Amino acid sequence: MTDRPTMTTSSGAPIPDNQNSVTAGPRGPMLMQDYQLIEKLAHQNRERIPERAVHAKGWGAHGTLKITGDISKYTNAKVLQPDAETPMLARFSTVAGEAGAADAERDVRGFALKFYTPEGNWDLVGNNTPVFFVRDPVKFPDFIHTQKRHPRTNLRSATAMWDFWSLSPESLHQVTILMSDRGIPVSPMHMNGYGSHTLSLWNDAGERYWVKFHFKTEQGHKHYTNGETVDVIGNSRETYQEALFGSIEDGKFPRWKVQVQIMPEMDAEKTSYNPFDLTKVWPHADYPCIDIGVMELNRNPDNYFAEIENAAFSPSNIVPGIGFSPDKMLQARIFSYADAHRHRLGTHYDTIPVNQPKCPVHHYHRDGQMNVFGGIKTGNADAYYEPNSFNGPVEAPSAKEPPLRIDGDADRYNHRDGNDDFGQVKALFDLFDDAHRNRLYANIAAAMQGAPEEIIKRQIALFAKVDPAYGAGVAKATGVSA
Ligand code: NDP
Repeated sequence: MTDRPTMTTSSGAPIPDNQNSVTAGPRGPMLMQDYQLIEKLAHQNRERIPERAVHAKGWGAHGTLKITGDISKYTNAKVLQPDAETPMLARFSTVAGEAGAADAERDVRGFALKFYTPEGNWDLVGNNTPVFFVRDPVKFPDFIHTQKRHPRTNLRSATAMWDFWSLSPESLHQVTILMSDRGIPVSPMHMNGYGSHTLSLWNDAGERYWVKFHFKTEQGHKHYTNGETVDVIGNSRETYQEALFGSIEDGKFPRWKVQVQIMPEMDAEKTSYNPFDLTKVWPHADYPCIDIGVMELNRNPDNYFAEIENAAFSPSNIVPGIGFSPDKMLQARIFSYADAHRHRLGTHYDTIPVNQPKCPVHHYHRDGQMNVFGGIKTGNADAYYEPNSFNGPVEAPSAKEPPLRIDGDADRYNHRDGNDDFGQVKALFDLFDDAHRNRLYANIAAAMQGAPEEIIKRQIALFAKVDPAYGAGVAKATGVSA
């Protein structure tokens, strides 16, 4: 034998026998001193980490973002300059299902991207839809509770879902997309991604522009009908993992065209809709999509847990030249995503290799559980506070972004006032031909099964406010007259 490495305990001592435990005679009991056995069993008990409360089931891969367009007049972010090539990681997911859920379920898909830029990690934490169910984050935990299991039955509840939606008309846009053909993509490769939130770009002159990011599939849109998924899920619960992993393994690298919509800063006061409302899109006619590059996924993870389960995406990760916006949902996610990772992965989640920036990192955070980065990140043991006289890292004033204009008195403004929850849904409904509309009605009726008639009626009344044909179609499909 051999130049194979020696198997060791996790503290490095060689393991003489990994087939037989230590027992008092061939038929005798175990000995406590068999630490090798105890370590193995104890380790197994700790293999799982907290499941994500949402987006638990996911699929991901590494890739590259190449910028081919020129938006340098809007942003000085290095990652967005012409010809920039940036290594990246993508994780796609369903929202409601647990880690073992079937892949081909009707649900919104998460579309989370991490770009390892020379100025730090930039994360875009989007979905395969351009909008969301709610616009005020104070409603988010309640909304998610309606999508997860009922506390008593431990089953998903059509009553809870439609009760919440029918009492929250701002959800109509996203509900319509979810119940349309795009509600069940055949794989992560056959769907678009949207940054969804309004972010901002800023340039050397200190000018700010609002921006929306779009990732358009080059594999084409492909979707399953409800009926088709019965067979698909019956045959395999892992169709997305099989498709994404298999395609990359075969050298067929999925690609998305990267586009932006750009809005001059002061336009935000003029649009008929609130451009920071996550239940709204910016109509293409007003703000056309500009091609800026291509995203390609071209490398499978070597270890799913280390590189995909451990991946921590957060909209708080931005870089100079890219900024936030007054989008209320974005503001809440800036806190809650990073906080979810502190809970799920620990205080130093950003030192896990897949989350580590590929540029130098210097800060004064110290200690805490799982500090595996050697104490502090200042490069000098005496520079453990700031300001200091020991050549510790200092601020970079050139990275200061222009002021975010905020105007108004602090109050609990009714988020429904002045917000049209129906017009953009009607614009979408008008894109659907009759066959698509009939599938929409049938998908809604199927999802409403088990919900009380009173709730169904309330929801049908909302659909009718979008378009009387929408209300009538769902009424017919459910057999419930509004
Ligand atoms: P456009 O006619 O210019 O755009 C319509 C867009 O609808 C298409 O570009 C396509 O987006 C998208 N679309 C087509 N079928 C579906 C579907 N089943 N589910 C979701 N989206 C679909 O008009 P507007 O820009 O004025 O938008 C009209 C409506 O289209 C909006 O109210 C919104 O519901 C929807 N939409 C708009 C987007 C936008 O950013 N303006 C983005 C996505 C949807 P894509 O090119 O992204 O595939």
